[in-house]
Amino acid sequence: MQQDVAVFHQANQPLRLELQPVPEPGEGEVLVRILASGVCDTDYRFSTLGIPWMQEPIILGHQIAGVVEKVGSGATAVEKGDHVIVHFVVSCGQCPLCQKGQDHLCLNWKGVGAHIPGGFAQYVVVPERNVIPYSVTQLPPEQASLIPCGLGTPYRAVKQANIQSGDVVLIQRAWVWGLATIQMCHQLGARAVVLDDDDRRLALAREQGADGTIDARSEDLREVLASHAPIGADVVIDFTGDPQWVSRAATLVRRGGRVVVVGRAGCFGEVNVDILNLMFGELVLTGACLARRDEVEELTRMAVEGQFQLAPLLTHRIQLIEINDGLAMLEQPETLGVVIVP
Ligand SMILES: [Zn+2]
Ligand SMILES: [Zn+2]
Repeated sequence: MQQDVAVFHQANQPLRLELQPVPEPGEGEVLVRILASGVCDTDYRFSTLGIPWMQEPIILGHQIAGVVEKVGSGATAVEKGDHVIVHFVVSCGQCPLCQKGQDHLCLNWKGVGAHIPGGFAQYVVVPERNVIPYSVTQLPPEQASLIPCGLGTPYRAVKQANIQSGDVVLIQRAWVWGLATIQMCHQLGARAVVLDDDDRRLALAREQGADGTIDARSEDLREVLASHAPIGADVVIDFTGDPQWVSRAATLVRRGGRVVVVGRAGCFGEVNVDILNLMFGELVLTGACLARRDEVEELTRMAVEGQFQLAPLLTHRIQLIEINDGLAMLEQPETLGVVIVP
């Protein structure tokens, strides 16, 4: 049986629509028929910048919700007909970090839609450990497809940030990740202030419940921030991946505050932090890497219970043949979630 797929061959070239055989699930694997496949900022960055470690040609797409079509030998966690979301970090389970339970930092990790074929297709094969069953009657697949990365990536950052009730969290860049972070801050009793340099994204942040917005083009950011957080933000979470923004974030947190960098795919450069600020401010500067399986499972439960407003995070529905238009949409500041539906 053949399937339609969209294949990345080279940076800055359109993905090519091709016909490929539907893959067979091997031992411990499952074949998932894709019902919704999100187009992430990361796919946009991969397709425009290319990624040095990526082995093209590759089918991109790592935000997948679907239904189990076939299970390989020895796979017992799910059965045909189960609705699942796909956790996109395939960990080895053997390395020292997997053994410590830090599977998102696995030394041998493979990314669905980065190292192994992803969701810009009709079917995908993944290890059974990478599918998380959920109740489709409570969550439509297109919303479920936001969970693995749209929620999973900021959730990792929120965990790293150790947010406390009453904290003021400064969120750098209001795309899906930043807007989902607003919801997570509110769940924890924290206030979310969004910093961005685009009027349309600042307006989106206000529409989606930000407790404050700050134009990053303001003359004196510390002074503007002081009206929300007089001694500085308790936490800054960065989704820009811009070293200048991250360096500046270290001047916007209070003493004892935390800066968590999610960044964006393909970001590079060095961050400058004043050593006295680091020492006497007991500043914590840390990263947040991908998403953890147990956290994605937790998010799935929360989403099914209705704890997230996912519909406002989706702005465009497209078909697989429109994938290149979908990627181009992500250049527009007002584009949030783009999802491919059959
Ligand atoms: Zn590992
Ligand atoms: Zn993503």
